[in-house]
Order: sequence, then structure tokens, then C-alpha cells
Amino acid sequence: MIIKRFVDEDFVNYRKPSMFIITPTCSFKCDKENGCLMCQNSRLVHEPTHDVETDVLIMRYLENPITKAIVFGGLEPFDTPHDLVEFIQSLRWNYHCDDDIVIYTGYTEEELEDTMVYKIISLFNNIIVKFGRFRLDQMPHYDEVLVTKVDADGEAEVFFPNLDTCIEFKARCVSSCEDMGYNTSFWTYRRVAD
Ligand code: SF4
Repeated sequence: MIIKRFVDEDFVNYRKPSMFIITPTCSFKCDKENGCLMCQNSRLVHEPTHDVETDVLIMRYLENPITKAIVFGGLEPFDTPHDLVEFIQSLRWNYHCDDDIVIYTGYTEEELEDTMVYKIISLFNNIIVKFGRFRLDQMPHYDEVLVTKVDADGEAEVFFPNLDTCIEFKARCVSSCEDMGYNTSFWTYRRVAD
């Protein structure tokens, strides 16, 4: 199967320690749909691709006692459907492994539900598909936000919405302290309305 690369042990993208497999391509639907370059994985495009034996990848996963799941992500796993299906079928049928397989996709469920690849993988247990892509006009949804406030002037490149002005959230100060001369406080913002 063609991949960009894999990570033997990933602790970020799923609740279980996972092998993370980065797939090689994407149609860049997020860029096209939003009319600008905003793909968060665009740097992966310039990485070399590798043709690896599916069985070698599976054996490497199975021989690692730490990992308990496999995560596909990076670019767009559903844009290389044959490799995705081959991997899942081989893991389930040849190696009798029912571990969770998580697939991050930029497609919506409606876009995938009539495709052959989606119908095939839906036949297997423990397949978790995380749908959806970034849309500029789509508000983020958070149930609970943990915020650290530091009373200081500073420069920043990234800005987060001011939740103090959002009636959807109820704020609670958990604790505060002085840290290296700065007043620092820790808050939770819990969503109370949509
Ligand atoms: S689906 Fe992922 S890889 Fe494809 S354009 Fe969107 S963010 Fe980039």
C-alpha cells in the first residue's frame, strides 16, 4: 500500500495508543470549498511516498505490545480506497485482529455513504470514522473549555474567541495565583446553551 509514513506509537489521535498511518493523497476539497489555502496537512504533500507491504505494516503493529488501535489520517484515507479496504480486510480476515480502526476523513457521511469503500468497511466491527472538514463559515463547537488567563501584554499570532462575551458559556474561576510576577487564573467555560 502507498503511504506517506507511519508512526509506531501515537498517543494523540485516539484514546488508545495507536499506530498512526498517514495516507498519501487528498483532492484538497477544503481548499477548494473555502476558496483559499487552508489545508492543515498541506506540508505532508511534499513528503515522499512509500510503497509498503500491507502484511509488513500489520505485523509491525501486531508485534508492538503497546498499541491497541490503528488510526488512518494525515491526508485523505478515502482517496486511496483500495489500500484502505485491503488493509482492513487483511487485518480482520488474515490476522483475526478486531482492534479499533479509526479513520479521519474530510468527507461527510452523506458524501461517503453510497460509495463502495464505505459500504465494505461498514461490514466490519470496530471501525470508527471521524467525519467532516474545516469550513470557514462553521462555528467551532465546544462543550467545555479550559482557559488559562495571564494578565500580561504580549504578541500573538493565533486568537481565540472571547468566551466572556458568549452567553452560551458559563464561566467559573477554578483557581488563581501569581506566577513569575504575573497574575494567572484558571477557568472552566461550560456550554449551557447551543
Ligand atoms: S481533507 Fe484533510 S488533507 Fe484534505 S484538504 Fe481537508 S484538511 Fe487537507
